[in-house]
Amino acid sequence: MKAELAQSAGYCFGVKRAIELAEKNAPACSLGPLIHNQDAVSELESRGIHAVESASALPDGGKVVVRSHGLGQSELEELKAGHEVIDATCPFVRAIHVMVQNAARQGQSVIVCGQREHPEVKGILGWAGSKACVVADPEEARRLPKMESALIVSQTTLGLNAFEDICRELKLRIAQPLIRTTVCDATVKRQAECEALSRRSDVMLVVGDKASANTRRLAEIAKEHCKGTYLISGAEELKNIALKPEDSVGITAGASTPRRKYEEVIAHMSDIETKVNPVDEPITPEVATEEEDFAAQIEGTLVRIRPGQTVTGKVLQITEDEIGVDIGYKMDGILKKSDLCDTDVKVGDEIEVEVVKVNDGEGNVVLSQRGIASRKLWDEVLAKFENGEYVTAVGEQAVKGGLVCSLGGIRTFVPASQLDTHYVSKIEQYVGKELTLKIIEADRAKKRIVASRRAVLEEEAAARKAEIWGRLEKDAIVTGVVRRLTDFGAFVDVGGVDGLVHITNLNWGHPTHPSEAVSVGEEIQVKILSLDPDNDRVSLSRKATMPNPWTVAEANYPVGSVVEGKVVRITTFGAFVELEPGLDGLVHISQCALTRINKVEDALNVGDIVRVKVLDVDTDKKRISLSVRAVLEDEAVEGTDEAIDDEYAIEEDAPAEEYTEETTEEAPETEN
Ligand code: SF4
Repeated sequence: MKAELAQSAGYCFGVKRAIELAEKNAPACSLGPLIHNQDAVSELESRGIHAVESASALPDGGKVVVRSHGLGQSELEELKAGHEVIDATCPFVRAIHVMVQNAARQGQSVIVCGQREHPEVKGILGWAGSKACVVADPEEARRLPKMESALIVSQTTLGLNAFEDICRELKLRIAQPLIRTTVCDATVKRQAECEALSRRSDVMLVVGDKASANTRRLAEIAKEHCKGTYLISGAEELKNIALKPEDSVGITAGASTPRRKYEEVIAHMSDIETKVNPVDEPITPEVATEEEDFAAQIEGTLVRIRPGQTVTGKVLQITEDEIGVDIGYKMDGILKKSDLCDTDVKVGDEIEVEVVKVNDGEGNVVLSQRGIASRKLWDEVLAKFENGEYVTAVGEQAVKGGLVCSLGGIRTFVPASQLDTHYVSKIEQYVGKELTLKIIEADRAKKRIVASRRAVLEEEAAARKAEIWGRLEKDAIVTGVVRRLTDFGAFVDVGGVDGLVHITNLNWGHPTHPSEAVSVGEEIQVKILSLDPDNDRVSLSRKATMPNPWTVAEANYPVGSVVEGKVVRITTFGAFVELEPGLDGLVHISQCALTRINKVEDALNVGDIVRVKVLDVDTDKKRISLSVRAVLEDEAVEGTDEAIDDEYAIEEDAPAEEYTEETTEEAPETEN
C-alpha cells in the first residue's frame, strides 16, 4: 500500500498564529473554539485556553482571544470595553474587514459569498454596513434584485470554483460588480492539491473535524474525483475502512486539524510506503514562510497610526458635517468639517490629515487638519524669518506700545517704533489694513512673532536708491530737473538722487548767483563729475555740456570786428568785457576812451554795455584784446567825413591828441 500525504495538510497560517497567540497569553478564554477540532480544543483547554460560547460567559476583565475568523466591529468594541482582547483575527480576514468597511462608508452594497452561519462570514458582515448580504450559491445569486454596483468578496475558505460560479451569476444582475477574490491562498492551494491527489489515489482520507467547513469542502472536492473518499476525525475511524494492500492512499487534512491527528492515521496504516512528503518530515518551511510572507504583506498594507501622526488619506464620502477618509488603517477616519482646512475637497481627493484619536470609542479614527495647517504656517513663517523674506499681515488691534496683527491666524506684534520710518501718533490707522512686514523675532514654542514695517520701508528705500545709484555713471550726461537754488549752486534731481551743480559749473560765464543761469523746475542737461554713494553726494556740471566759447572765439570774433559786451570787472590796467558767458576780453586802460584817463572808472563802470573793437584773439593764451577807443575813433572819423561831405570844409592842421599804451601793470590772462 502506498500513502501520499498532501503537502498543505494541517494547520494553516492563520490557525497556527491564533493558537500561538492564545498559548502565549494563557490563561485566557476564547470566544468560541479557536479551531474546529474537538481534540485540539480539549488540548488547549488543558493548557489554560477555555472556549466560551458567548461574551456574557466571559469573566470580567480577563483576557479574551478573538479567533482567526474575527468578529464584527461592534462585537469587537464591546469586548474591548470590558476585557483585555488578544486579537488573533487572521490578517487575511482582517483585510476583508477593511475592504467592506470602506465600501460601506461610500454607501456601496456588499455581497459576501459564503456560508451564512460561518463565524467568519458573520464577522465580515459586522463591518459591511446595512447594505450587505450573504450569497451561499449561484441559485441565491439568481434571486438577488438587479443592482447598479456592489463589492463582492468571499469567505476565505470558499472554493475558488464555487466563488467563480456565484460571481458569474452576480455579474448578470449587477451593472458594475467590484469583485475581490478573497479566497485564502492557503485554501486555494490546499484544495488544488486535494483535487490533484484525489485524481491519482484509490482511496482519499480527509482528516479533520466534521464541523469544520474547510475540511468538509476538501472531502467534497476529493469525492468528485475519487469514489473512495472518507472524512475521518482520526486513526480510530480507520477500522471502518477496507484498505487493500494495492491501494494508493492520498491523505490530506483540514486547516484546523492538528498535525498529531493525521500522523496517527498514517501510523495506524500497516504496510504503508510513504511516497511523498513522509510524515516524519515537518511541514516544509517554504510553505510556512510563503504563508507568513503573504500575511506580512497584508499586514504591511494596514497602516499603523498614532495620535499626532500626519497621514495622507483618500476622501471616501462627504456628509453635511463630516468627511470620511480612507487612511489605509483598518478603520476609516472621520474629519469634522469644522476641522477641515483644505478647500474644494471632493470624493476621491487625497488630503493630508492628522490623527487626533486612534479610536473615538465608536471605532472611528478622529482626524483633523487644524494642527497640520498651523504647523505648516509656522514652518513657512520660520523659513521666511530665516531667509529675511517679507510677510503679509492684517492689523487687528492698536494696543499700548504697538499694533497686533494677524499673520494667517498667528498673532504678530509690531512695536510702534517699527510701524514707520517716522514717529506714528495714530496707531489705529493701521487697523484693518494689510501690511508688508519683516519678522524680527520668532519663537514657535512661545508662539511669539515680532515684526517691523519700518524695516521693510527702509529696505525698499535702500533698494530704490541702490537701483538709482546703479544707473548713474561718472562722466555720463543725463537730464535733470532743477529742484532748488542756493548761493553756491543748484540742486538737480537726476532720477531720484539730487546732485549739486556748483555755481562755477553752471555755465561758461561768471554768474554771481545760480538764478542768473538756471531756474527752479527747469530741465537741464548735466554731466556727472563724481559719485559718492556712501555720503549721498553727486557732483554735476552743466558747463561741461556746453561748447567751450574759446574753441570758436577766433571765428566768432574776427580781428577788426565791432561787438557789444558788458563790463564785468575793472582793474587798474583796464576793464574786462564779457562778450558772451565764458568769453571775456580786456580793454586796456589806454583803449578805454578817446582821451587819456587816469583810471579806468573815468570811462567805464562795471555793468556798462559797451561797443568794442576786436584788436587781437589769442586762443592759446585765452586772451582777447578789445578797444573802446578804436570804436570811438572810427565813429569820429565817420562823423568828420560826414561833416566834410556836408560842409565841404576840412581842418587839416588840427593836431591829434597824443596817447601811449604804457601801463604800470602787465595784463593777466583771462580766467576762463
Ligand atoms: S484559512 Fe486562510 S484565511 Fe482562514 S485562517 Fe487559515 S490562513 Fe487565515
